[in-house]
Amino acid sequence: MTVSASIPTAKSRVLIAGATGFIGQFVAKASLDAGRPTYALVRPGLAGCPSKSRVLKSLHDKGAIILHGLITDRENMEKILKDHEIDIVISAVGGGNVLDQVALVEAIKAVGTVKRFLPSEFGHDVVRADPVEPGLQMYEDKRVIRRLIEEYRIPYNYICCNSIASWPYYDNKHPADVLPPLDHFKIYGDGTVKAYFVAGTDIGKFTMKIVDDVRAINKSVHFRPSSNFYNMNELASLWEKKIGRTLPRVTITEEDLLAIAAGLPSNSENNIPESIVASFTHDIFIKGCQSSFSINGPDDVEVGTLYPDEAFRTLDECFDDFALELKDNNKDLGSNGNAAPNHVVESLALSAPCA
Ligand code: NDP
Repeated sequence: MTVSASIPTAKSRVLIAGATGFIGQFVAKASLDAGRPTYALVRPGLAGCPSKSRVLKSLHDKGAIILHGLITDRENMEKILKDHEIDIVISAVGGGNVLDQVALVEAIKAVGTVKRFLPSEFGHDVVRADPVEPGLQMYEDKRVIRRLIEEYRIPYNYICCNSIASWPYYDNKHPADVLPPLDHFKIYGDGTVKAYFVAGTDIGKFTMKIVDDVRAINKSVHFRPSSNFYNMNELASLWEKKIGRTLPRVTITEEDLLAIAAGLPSNSENNIPESIVASFTHDIFIKGCQSSFSINGPDDVEVGTLYPDEAFRTLDECFDDFALELKDNNKDLGSNGNAAPNHVVESLALSAPCA
């Protein structure tokens, strides 16, 4: 073995790369809540970004040790891993930075003491899902990292947590940061293909349980809460129940999604091209990529079978949170039947990126 075969424990030191990111925040908070010594690796230069500085301060206030650095700096990563005797490394770098992890994996191999590495996955099983381009390229990058980890015999977990609990906008990579629609629903295809929705807090909570669970070592861990298995039509009805009125439904066909994935029309205003999210949306809600395979192979485990007594937050509860957010912002729930304008969704974004 290149690395120690021993199992990390609750006192294991955890390093999280990308702790200020969308998924990284949930993981970092869960690590701190679990009482683990938690090191947040952040890129230098966050001072100019108030929202990220706020996240950093809150992690620091909860006890995180903030380290500055880039995962592409192999020498520095080796030093950090050694100096702080890091046992568990979790990467939550964004989809555009997946190959940055090559240097991090090299550093983990060189140090040889990391007991578990979780690369930036946090979505679909990238060897089974098969989106059209440009989403496919991100999966190919994630596959490269998987192969490297396995070649170096670094103990790992691949977190396949499926969709974040929210309205699955085809053009927003962080849909949980905005409210579900208030004017009309865009339904993909006939709206009957189901997906699994998981609260960000549960992604964090279960990730931190898995990292020192011997039953999960070297496995892809799938999040499939049966209570949160919804199709678009059911999701729309759930939100209508929360806001107390019905909304018009507009069909986005398979051809529409493929055209957007192909970059037509080119009107992206998001952090990453909407075409990437559209290609994943097509894979989920047209092709059914989240449930088209069984997970009983030797390299797979389902989180619910590991922790049968631990409940997931239900989608119903998550949508209650969105409704509360709407109420807190004194927004019109539309009880008069008038459609709220599209921009309301944007104006209620819960956090804002700086880049
Ligand atoms: P974000 O873009 O929100 O955050 C990425 C973080 O990584 C940032 O903190 C960023 O720092 C940091 N980072 C990027 N490059 C480096 C580097 N070279 N060295 C150190 N830090 C770096 O990422 P997401 O949360 O959107 O994505 C994380 C993972 O989750 C991805 O694999 C993505 O595919 C997946 N995902 C899954 C979703 C789902 O619904 N299941 C939804 C969204 C993402 P800085 O702040 O300086 O930019």
